[in-house]
Amino acid sequence: MKIDWYGSPNFDPSRFGQKVECVVLHWMGGTLYACDSHFKNPSAKVSAHYGIGGNSKREIHQYVKLEHTAWHGAPAVNPTAQIVKDKGAINPNFYSIGIEMEGGYNGIGIDPSTVDECSWLVAQLYVDGWIKEVSRYTIIMHKEINPFGKPLCPNLDINNFLKLVNDKVKQLRPEPPKPPVEDNKTKIKKLNDENKKLANTILSNCIEIEKLNK
Ligand SMILES: [Zn+2]
Repeated sequence: MKIDWYGSPNFDPSRFGQKVECVVLHWMGGTLYACDSHFKNPSAKVSAHYGIGGNSKREIHQYVKLEHTAWHGAPAVNPTAQIVKDKGAINPNFYSIGIEMEGGYNGIGIDPSTVDECSWLVAQLYVDGWIKEVSRYTIIMHKEINPFGKPLCPNLDINNFLKLVNDKVKQLRPEPPKPPVEDNKTKIKKLNDENKKLANTILSNCIEIEKLNK
């Protein structure tokens, strides 16, 4: 997975005392390259941490550092996402990572390759510890923050997306190999060896005591 730094002037260089707890998924309503120039424009006053798409459908551009707040998900209005409900009046941008996927214009949806690349990115964010679980609590869509203002952002099968993320996590962090199971014969031999060692120690201690007593 290759991530190219693009940068944007639209961010706050702080998380305002919050830590990252979730990922917010969007679609751009356009192409990745249009998004690049939009986020470069200070008067647009919008950004996200990442954008995915481009000619390969798998280009990843980064606009804002993860330690900083990008401007993508506020305000929360009648949110349905549980984490946003739990956070109450706190600006969702402060505790989220924003990812924009190409699509959502002229009837064009998100390309499956872009969705797949996005699942790699989210899996990596999880493996790196930015979110503490892969769940509907930590992976939300913009329309769950503002269902009436942003009812279409994004058009995504979120349960399938979570499945993709879980598959990628397994590939990024395979289960450690289990130690071989010992059979009883090996265990008995080990215990006998330990006993022999102990017997030798007792014997040499007795000889030592004998000497000291003379
Ligand atoms: Zn959005």
